Amino acid sequence: MKYHETQDYSFLIDQNHFIYDHKEDPETLHIYIKSKPHSCKCPECGVESSALHATYQRTMQDTPIRCKQTFLHSNVYKYKCENSNCTRKVFMEDLPFAKASQVRTDALNSFILGVSMFLSNEGASKVLSLLGVKISNDSIQKLYDHIEFVDDPDVEAVGIDDVAIRKGQTYATAIYDLKDHHLIALLDGRDAETLKEWLKGHKKIRLVARDRASAYAAAINEILPECTQVADRFHLLQNLLGYLKDIFKEEMPPYVYIRDGKILDGEPEKVLQEKKPHDEAYISSLHYDNTPPMNPDGSERKYDNKMHDLTSGEYADHAEGRKKNRN
Ligand SMILES: [Zn+2]
Repeated sequence: MKYHETQDYSFLIDQNHFIYDHKEDPETLHIYIKSKPHSCKCPECGVESSALHATYQRTMQDTPIRCKQTFLHSNVYKYKCENSNCTRKVFMEDLPFAKASQVRTDALNSFILGVSMFLSNEGASKVLSLLGVKISNDSIQKLYDHIEFVDDPDVEAVGIDDVAIRKGQTYATAIYDLKDHHLIALLDGRDAETLKEWLKGHKKIRLVARDRASAYAAAINEILPECTQVADRFHLLQNLLGYLKDIFKEEMPPYVYIRDGKILDGEPEKVLQEKKPHDEAYISSLHYDNTPPMNPDGSERKYDNKMHDLTSGEYADHAEGRKKNRN
């Protein structure tokens, strides 16, 4: 399908690009885009050039649309630098949604990291595939390995908090710039020593928002005695709720039983359901085939686990197999 010139689908991309074509099949969606400007600033000297040198196509996986794997095919322009004093002869236009070497857009990478934060890489890869993103668990790990935080030695106000990384396996100390709440450092562990080392390189800090009385307070006092420490809103609220709970605990019984909208005086009597005995005569009349299940090749099928019993031999065997595959 070709697009009429008056139609503008740039809301899907960004203001400097337009969609000139798209293709769709049951599994994938391909969006073809071009940039609107026909000039670009040289990254070396900053002089605007409109001398087109070449065009090439870049393909990136993007955030899925309607759970279809979605690709952006971008016509990227190469320009000649027109400044004769410049050392750069040719340069490529920048794409605002992906750096030069990326096979996925920034938006998709954020999406992937967001999903996998709460899952194992294997689980995330499966969930993402249902959503229309194809990425292997190894590639998810690579994304994690490439996360870098740009530290700012001149930062003046920071928030410090301990965070659990990936399903509570390890703890880290997160330090973020209070101005816009972006992370500037993620320190291993949550003890005072690592924080002290970091603080020594950030002597301009005048304000720290932190959690309640913790090892952090002492570390900050020692390295930056002039610094003001405040409790952040989240932890103040958590404190308040903690105290309120303590007050209620004294006033209220541990359990309140409600039936038909009325509070009962005490625990109601439990109604136990009696288990009906099997009707042996009926069961034997069914002539149930109790032979073990067979594989198509005639061998006996080792497991037929319909109960999803995680302690079963089948699951243990699968886990062993996965371990072997990893090594
Ligand atoms: Zn230049």
